[in-house]
Amino acid sequence: MTGIGFIGLGNMGGPMARKLIAAGHAVAGFDVVASALGRAVGDGAAAAASVAEAASGRDVVITMLPAGQHVRDVYLGGDGVLASAAPGTLLIDCSTIDVATARDVSEEAATQGFEMLDAPVSGGVGGAEAGTLTFMVGGAPAPFERARPLLDVMGGNVFHTGGSGNGQAAKMCNNMILAISMIGVSEAFTLADKVGLDAQTLFDVVSTASGQCWALTSYCPVPGPVPASPANRDYQAGFTADMMLKDLRLAQSSAGLTGAATRLGAEAEAIYTKYCDAGDGASDFSGIIRMIAEPSGE
Ligand code: NAD
Repeated sequence: MTGIGFIGLGNMGGPMARKLIAAGHAVAGFDVVASALGRAVGDGAAAAASVAEAASGRDVVITMLPAGQHVRDVYLGGDGVLASAAPGTLLIDCSTIDVATARDVSEEAATQGFEMLDAPVSGGVGGAEAGTLTFMVGGAPAPFERARPLLDVMGGNVFHTGGSGNGQAAKMCNNMILAISMIGVSEAFTLADKVGLDAQTLFDVVSTASGQCWALTSYCPVPGPVPASPANRDYQAGFTADMMLKDLRLAQSSAGLTGAATRLGAEAEAIYTKYCDAGDGASDFSGIIRMIAEPSGE
């Protein structure tokens, strides 16, 4: 049994903590929102009254927070994780944040004698509830091996992607590909419709041809060909367009800092910004086809 401080018990952190509790680990949870903490206590977590209390005296601290600034505050703040955790505590941040912040925080943790991993996930709330998340883990091999039994409880696929920040790098690159391919698939269905080719026929051909991709075959943005895709339930998320936009912004921020040429990534960010600004951010990201198919195009 591992003593775990779990900070950030929202849509993802709540079910992830629940899996750890079900596997027999002792979880002390903290969230600034009382109802999130209350749900975790209902699942069997001990309630911590602060970040400091959640972090002190644990074997492992796991965080699942909205964005980079929260991660900085929770780890580096006066009563934060680094100030409160016992020497030897393993630190695992599962939030999706920018590579630079992940590297800064883990460098500061190392300076203070802690091993830290960035371990963002893919698989959404459904994956968190089922314990089938994919983890992309950046950090040294020894803490990765130490973390692995816990990550295996919460995930179906656990990848060590290299040094600090490389978990975040893998996540943002994957999601940039996904956004670009979803826009591409949406443009193809829109064009096919205009020239009189029906959606199912296009799907049948492309799903066995060189245009095949996950956005088409698993998450088709038109209703019909893939019954489980959000297109069949009025684009109810799924993975929200707001979340996709957040990840595209992380990718563009890294591209800006490094000078990487990501022209289509930038275009995808602009397209999703327009979609979210129009009030559709809470819908599934595949709903972008509705904007692309408008008479004026995107
Ligand atoms: P969420 O907003 O539901 O949960 C975040 C939780 O952190 C909230 O309950 C919030 O109250 C808490 N929090 C914020 N500041 C805090 C602090 N200082 N101390 C303690 N708790 C604090 O978000 P989520 O959907 O659970 O996502 C969490 C992370 O996972 C994000 O980085 C997101 O990008 C990533 N992610 C989400 C999904 C998804 O489908 N929801 C999928 C993959 C990755």
